[in-house]
Amino acid sequence: MFATFTAPGFGPVHNRRTDGRPCRCGDHHDQDDEALGTPLNPDTYDYEAAVLWNAHAGQLWRRFSTYLRREVAKRAGLSQRRLRDHARVSFAKVAEYQKRGAVHFHAVIRLDGPSGGDTPPPPWATAELLTDAIEAAATKASVDGPVIDGRTHTFTFGRQLDVRTIRSADFNDGQELTERAVAAYIAKYATKGAETATGALDRPLKFAAELAQLDISDHSRRLVRTAWTLGARKSLEHLRLRAWAHMLGFRGHFSTKSRRYSTTLGALRNARAEWRRAQAVPANAPTTNTTYVLAHWVFAGTGLSDTEAWLSASLDPAPGTEGEPTA
Ligand SMILES: [Zn+2]
Repeated sequence: MFATFTAPGFGPVHNRRTDGRPCRCGDHHDQDDEALGTPLNPDTYDYEAAVLWNAHAGQLWRRFSTYLRREVAKRAGLSQRRLRDHARVSFAKVAEYQKRGAVHFHAVIRLDGPSGGDTPPPPWATAELLTDAIEAAATKASVDGPVIDGRTHTFTFGRQLDVRTIRSADFNDGQELTERAVAAYIAKYATKGAETATGALDRPLKFAAELAQLDISDHSRRLVRTAWTLGARKSLEHLRLRAWAHMLGFRGHFSTKSRRYSTTLGALRNARAEWRRAQAVPANAPTTNTTYVLAHWVFAGTGLSDTEAWLSASLDPAPGTEGEPTA
């Protein structure tokens, strides 16, 4: 199954309605209107909860994955321990920012046989059962957050949960599920519109004063500032909100690989090439407990590094020079 998990609402935002009616502000927003996803009223938008939700999204996901195994076992009439003898729940997820700056997750979730993708799932492991279990686990998943100025935060997923059956063979051939594969799958199939954007900056902030000079929307700036301000609190130290303010509180991982993936059409070609490469070589599954972030562009540099230049030169000698000593 391919599932998308969203954040709950933190206040009304400008949107484009599919029924042709205007946004709550009275306007009909154009598809690339910068106002989309930004709050109707920034002064009442819950920036604190928005940033803290991002900061707890990883934990919420882990809770969901624990519950999912439980819900699958329950539907199969097995204990969680016995489930391992019959089936295995595999998944990989990637994160993406919605225009409003909330992280959402895309995940491919698969039921395999007991020893993973190369064993067939038991007959009871249907798409319907898995969908039902995903919905139950997502609804139950909840994380107790901090108490800030007397307010207790609790984090759950938003009600907009989208679960679809994957009809292609992309994830049914025993291939190991990796974040790279999911990213490639999304780039290949997901239709992306105006709800997706890069909310985050490409590097950590060093000083709050930097924020004023950055060319970002007021909404993004306010999210970053909220993370920075909350980051001063001793009780929130573990969330490392200052180090992750540029990611709007989410401790995601934008590796050199993830920048190859984007949901823009222009990058589809790269993603497809990467997808083919990922299938051709053994997957190097990430060992770290972080999440690939999509649609997050980082300037990586131009040309080759010294090492790459050396490697390139030694792998591809000019014709006629092979084996000859170099001057
Ligand atoms: Zn509007």
